[in-house]
Amino acid sequence: MTDRYAVVGNPVAHSKSPAIHAEFARQTGQDMAYTRLLAPLDRFAQTVEAFRASGGKGVNVTLPFKGEAFHLATERTGRALSARAVNTLRFDDQRVLGDNTDGAGLVRDIRENLSLPLEGRRVLLVGAGGAASGVIQALLDTGIATLVLANRTVERARDLAQRFGGAVEPCGLDALGDAGFDVIVNATSASLSGEVPPLPPGVFASGSLAYDMMYGKGETPFLAAARAAGAARLADGLGMLVEQAAASFEVWRGVRPQTAPVLAMLRGTE
Ligand code: NAP
Repeated sequence: MTDRYAVVGNPVAHSKSPAIHAEFARQTGQDMAYTRLLAPLDRFAQTVEAFRASGGKGVNVTLPFKGEAFHLATERTGRALSARAVNTLRFDDQRVLGDNTDGAGLVRDIRENLSLPLEGRRVLLVGAGGAASGVIQALLDTGIATLVLANRTVERARDLAQRFGGAVEPCGLDALGDAGFDVIVNATSASLSGEVPPLPPGVFASGSLAYDMMYGKGETPFLAAARAAGAARLADGLGMLVEQAAASFEVWRGVRPQTAPVLAMLRGTE
């Protein structure tokens, strides 16, 4: 019997996850199918339960349901607990395991695909929503020197930082000043509306990496602004997407797929 998985979201038609997991399954010889599931905004739990009752083995969860998925899980991994959000559910008999692979995906993309060690780096994370919350612990675990969390609404940055003791320094975007960072991660949704969080140009230290969790055709508005401000390296979030998918695949199947060929396929460069 072919094992069935899906990505649940609203909207979900744009999701690249089916193509990614189909390629992982082909590569590793796993007998599985992976589809998209559009959940009505008020029926996430029912949609997931129906999929599970019909024999589904697990789902990825995307916007806007990662918080609801956290509550639906009956057991949660440490990384799900620190994110307070779940992007991977695995159905084991009566148990529903909730995990979050976004942080692992970001860190692996930076360290492995972009060949940038994170130990000792000064990191600026912009945004204090679900995406930022999902990656903080993974960034801290790499041994970075500092993590500044800057958000348009400073109270949200403070609330989020508080969950990590004194390890994260919260501030408003207007309080950033001219201190330079080695890695600047955009975890806001500003690019979705063609906007850019207003960062002082000084935050892009010489040799810095500007990383936008957003991805799409061409350069995102954030990466265009970072280039103009002097960032030495630019990366969009497609690598993070593929890496978080690989980590989910491993949670479900116990096998780690190769990500480089899939990333090359998505970028159309293979
Ligand atoms: P969210 O929970 O809605 O949070 C949105 C954040 O963006 C908030 O911090 C908000 O600030 C900030 N923001 C929105 N518009 C802004 C603007 N014009 N200027 C400055 N700040 C602005 O969204 P999310 O779930 O964190 O997602 C954020 C992004 O990450 C999305 O684009 C998503 O697609 C991406 N993402 C990518 C991956 C991947 O695998 N590549 C994984 C997860 C998420 P306020 O608090 O002030 O409103």
